[in-house]
Order: sequence, then structure tokens, then C-alpha cells
Amino acid sequence: MFDVRELGARFQLRFDNGAYRRWIAGKEVILHCHHYNSRLQNTIEGASAVDGRAIIVRAAEAVFRDHVANAIAQSDDLAMRLRVARNLYAHLGYGWLDFSRLDAGTITATASHFVEGWNAGFPGRSQPVCSFAEGYLQGAIHAVAGKTVYVRERECMIAGASACRFEVVTERSEPVATHDKTKHAFTQKAPPASLPSNVDSDKIVQALVEMPIHGNPEGLIPAFGVYLASTPADFYNRICLDFITAMGEAGLASTAKKLLVFDAETCGMNTFRGIMSSPEWDGLVGPMIEQPSDSLFGIVAVSNALGWGNWHITKHTSPNAVTLESLNGYEAFGFLEHRGAFAKNPQCYMLTGVAAGIMELVYGSGTIEERFGTYVAEETACICCARESCSFEVEKV
Ligand SMILES: [Zn+2]
Ligand SMILES: [Zn+2]
Repeated sequence: MFDVRELGARFQLRFDNGAYRRWIAGKEVILHCHHYNSRLQNTIEGASAVDGRAIIVRAAEAVFRDHVANAIAQSDDLAMRLRVARNLYAHLGYGWLDFSRLDAGTITATASHFVEGWNAGFPGRSQPVCSFAEGYLQGAIHAVAGKTVYVRERECMIAGASACRFEVVTERSEPVATHDKTKHAFTQKAPPASLPSNVDSDKIVQALVEMPIHGNPEGLIPAFGVYLASTPADFYNRICLDFITAMGEAGLASTAKKLLVFDAETCGMNTFRGIMSSPEWDGLVGPMIEQPSDSLFGIVAVSNALGWGNWHITKHTSPNAVTLESLNGYEAFGFLEHRGAFAKNPQCYMLTGVAAGIMELVYGSGTIEERFGTYVAEETACICCARESCSFEVEKV
């Protein structure tokens, strides 16, 4: 069982108030829920034109090799290093790893954020689903022991096993995946004056930042009616950029971008439907809501506290349309840091999809499927195209 007090100081959240960024163990992390994470995995691994599984595994290996290394102290012995790897995984909300049979080449997991997500969104799968865990473990083993290995999931809870079982394969000639990016110098513009609403956005952000959002004894984060996980922005950026690149080589770049927007649109509805029907929302945001538009302002405030960026509603005069501005979205920075050059077209697919999804949630009716596609969002300006901020226009279809 995960004892959050053990090593907790190494995983202390640092919230950057000016940028609305969450930092844990030297990595900027984003809170997303099990619906989004499993849907994104399903999109990337489900595209037959690319090896999506390899994209997920290599990204997790590269990013978490750094992340685990950040949390290890030089004086830690091997046993302590493994505890750091196990506890970081649990603290971030991915589940619970058991390294006690590592000498025999076996690692097990008794809880899994991704299994929860697949059971909710795509039940009935018979093949192992924890490619994220495989990559995490490959990166962690390199950080802990300096060994370059493959980790293969042989049994998975998604198919009814009592635990996910991973085999460590020591024959590997492929070098460990690295994560290279260059810092992009950027001066964030001052946020615009808030539009009038009954919602106290600062109070919402402050309350959420003070909430202890980390793994429970199983290493999961059940909160707001969903399972949350703190995932490095580097991981999201890397899998999305690698997916677009790989799909582009097959002539499918625009399909890839559309799929990423669709996932976020569904996520915007699923995540915030869960959040809006949770006791946490009722206690914190509910008392501020006097009209439907207040819910929209409340949702944007919550998303800022989740680390999605510093974005604001800049125009909202009818239920048929909204304009949002993002001052420092992680996708925009991710593109510039990884590509090292400006883009011809906007690149913030997550925020584009979420912008449509939250309008469908607040003003639409019926099931998620019935609401999907009833609003359309377009990113009309992007930091990636050398603009000072990203803008999103959403309209009812
Ligand atoms: Zn599994
Ligand atoms: Zn953008």
C-alpha cells in the first residue's frame, strides 16, 4: 500500500501562480483524467498507419527516466531508488508497482490508472493495455540501475488478471530513449481584465492548489468523480508531436490533428461532467453559480488549476459562442521547444477540443454522443505562429 508520507517531501507540489503551472520533482505536470488519458492512448495505438504503441513506450521511457532521476538523491542505495520509482508512480496517480520479485525479472501492478480508463471508455479488451507502464518501468530501471531493458506486460487486469504482470527483458541493443528540447524564450503578456461573472476564479484556483491531489493507498487519484493523474507536459507533447509526425509520413497529418481535437472535445465533456457532479464542485464552485455562463467561467478556472495553462474567456455574449485566450498553453511551448521553430499553423489541439467540449457540456443537451460536434472550435492565433497568445473561437454549428 502507498504511504503518501514516505518520501512525500521529494514530490511536494510547487504551483507557479503567475503561469498557473504545477511542478513535481522538477517536471511540469498536467492533471488530466482517466477518460482523456485512455482515449489519447486508444487514438495513438489504434491508428493502423503508425506504431502507436512504440510512440507511447518510448515517450514514457524518455520522460520518466528523467523524472525518476530528478527524485533520486545521490546517497540513495538501490532499494531506496526503487522505492522512489514506485512512490513517484503512485504519487502521480498511475497505480501501485511491486518490485519485490525484480531479481526474478518480474514486476507486478495491482492498480492502474489506464486500466480504469479503458474499463470506463473501451471495455472488453483482451490484450494488455499498460504500454505507458512498460515505458515508465524502462525509464525507471535506467534511472535506478543504469540498465537498458525492455519491459513487456504479460498479463493485464484489463483481461481479468488479478494484477498486471511485467517481464523484464535484459537483451536490448537499442539505446535508451532520451528527451531533448531547447528552451524557448517567451515573455507572457499580462492577462486581460476578467469579464463580469459571479465566479471568483482566483478563489477556485487557490482552493484547488491547496487540495492534496496525489495517489491514495492504491496509487490512484479518485477525485471530482474521475481518476486524475499528474502527467508531465513533456510526455503529452512528445506523444502528440511524434504521432502527428508519424501520421504525416503516411500522408495523414491532418487526420492526426483532427483525432487529437476530437479526444479533447470528448475529454472536455467527460472530465467536466464528472467534476460538475462531484461534491468538490458542489462545495467550492456550486454556490457561485447563478446562471449557465457562470458554469463556463467555473470550468475555465478549474482547468487553470489543473495546469492546462493560463486561459481566460475574452468574449461570451450568447450561449452560441465563446472566445478564449490562452497565454502560455503547454502544447504551444511544447511545439516550440521540441521543433525549435515557429509553425505555419496553430498547434494547440487539446485546448481547441476542450473549448468546444465545455460549450457542449454547459449549453448542450442529451448524452455525450448527442452533444459531440454541436459546437466547432478553431484556434485563430497561436504562440507557435509567433503570436503573443493563442485564441480560440467556438461557435454553435
Ligand atoms: Zn495492465
Ligand atoms: Zn496555440
